[in-house]
Amino acid sequence: MNGNEHLWRQFEKLGEMMGDGLHHEADGKWISVEYKKLAKILCPEGFAEIRKQKSEALNKAIQKKIEIDKCPNCEGKFKQSRSGSSVVVCLNCKKKYKYKKSKKMTKTHKILFLLWKIKMFFKGLKTDVPVKVWSSEKRKFVKGYIQGLQGDSGTNENFGFYFQVKFLEPIQGNDARFYTFGTYTEKDFKQKEIQKF
Ligand SMILES: [Zn+2]
Repeated sequence: MNGNEHLWRQFEKLGEMMGDGLHHEADGKWISVEYKKLAKILCPEGFAEIRKQKSEALNKAIQKKIEIDKCPNCEGKFKQSRSGSSVVVCLNCKKKYKYKKSKKMTKTHKILFLLWKIKMFFKGLKTDVPVKVWSSEKRKFVKGYIQGLQGDSGTNENFGFYFQVKFLEPIQGNDARFYTFGTYTEKDFKQKEIQKF
């Protein structure tokens, strides 16, 4: 850990955000990119191991799919283009296909998210705007700022839009590694649980 404390802290925070699924959101891709970068620096062996496990899991899933799926072009059988890839090649006509990852935003969701972001922009609720949230534990307002606006990726039938807030100090306890992030809705602003500062 020597000399790397701040990187570890960052790493843990990003891990928590990913635990909340924020890296799946429209604005959240930087989280997993940053997390990977840090994992490589902080724990090269662990990173290699995770990568290996991921690749094995993907290979298994692809194998299962290509046992059933046939080439839409010629009904030929598929083979995985290479280990760890979601691209498959038809053994007969050589056409390539890519299996899509699930849990992506649908088009409708993307449009609704964009409209919501514009609406919030006109209300002055956008990235970097300072906010304050009442901490019942600390009996005071904790200051922070809007770090980003998120569209829920949980289910595509159920749109949920959130503000990702970064606090300048923990909203609970004194350990700066924890409770320094929060997610709030438009309703929370209306009910004054969170306010522009
Ligand atoms: Zn084919």
